Amino acid sequence: MKLIDTHCHIHSSDYKIDSNEAYQRAIDGGVTKMICVGTDVVDSKLAISFANNHEGVFASVGVHPHEAKHGIAGLKELVSENKVVAIGEIGLDYFYEHSDRQAQIEIFEQQLQIADDANLPVIFHVREAFDDFWPIVSKFPNIRGVLHSFTDSQANANKAIESGFFIGVNGIATFTKDAAQQQVYSQLPLDKIILETDSPYLTPVPHRGKLNEPVFVREVARYLCTVRSTSVDELALLTTQNATNLFHI
Ligand SMILES: [Zn+2]
Repeated sequence: MKLIDTHCHIHSSDYKIDSNEAYQRAIDGGVTKMICVGTDVVDSKLAISFANNHEGVFASVGVHPHEAKHGIAGLKELVSENKVVAIGEIGLDYFYEHSDRQAQIEIFEQQLQIADDANLPVIFHVREAFDDFWPIVSKFPNIRGVLHSFTDSQANANKAIESGFFIGVNGIATFTKDAAQQQVYSQLPLDKIILETDSPYLTPVPHRGKLNEPVFVREVARYLCTVRSTSVDELALLTTQNATNLFHI
C-alpha cells in the first residue's frame, strides 16, 4: 500500500519527534510522499528547507488565519521555490478567532490572489466560517484546492465537491463520536478524498496519546475502508491519484 500524507508539520520547530526519524518511518511504511505545510512566513521557509533535504517531501507556503494579524510580508518570494506545490494553509478560523475576522479575510484574499497568479492549488483551513468562505472563494473561479481537516456538514461537503475541491480526511475520522460526521466521511466520493495526518496533531486510533506522524496516515486509510465498501488497496490508489493530480507531485 502506497500513500501520500498531504498535510503535516514535521518540519516545524515545535515538532517534538525527531523529524528525520519520522520521515524514515513514513518512507519505510509506504508513505512515499509528504507535504510540509507552513503556517506563517518563517515556518513556510522551514517547510521548504525540510523539503529540499528530503526526497518525496514537498512544501506548501502560507499564513494561517491564526497568524493573520502578522501579515504576509515575504510570502510571495517563496512561491517560485522549487519544491513549493501549494499555497496554505490559509483560510478563516472563527472558532478560535486568534486574529480578528477582518484581518483574516484580508490576508486570505491576498493569498488567494497569489495562488491564482502562480497557478498553485490551495490548502484551505476553514473552521466555523463557511458563510464567509464561499463568497470569498467564488471571486477566484480558477482556484483548485482541498478543504483540509474537513469536519463540517454534508451541505458544505456537497458545496465543496460542486466547487471542484477535494476533501482532506485525517485522524478525526477515526475518533469522532459525531454520527453526522461519520456519515459524511462514509459517503464522500472516492475521487474527492485526499488523506492527511496534520502531524503532530489529531493522532488516529489506535495511536491516541502519542504525537502524530506521517506513517499513521495508514490508519486513516484503513479506517475509511471499514465504513465503506472499498478495499484498502483501491482507496490507497485513488487517494494517491487524487493528491498527485491536485498537487502535481
Ligand atoms: Zn495543519
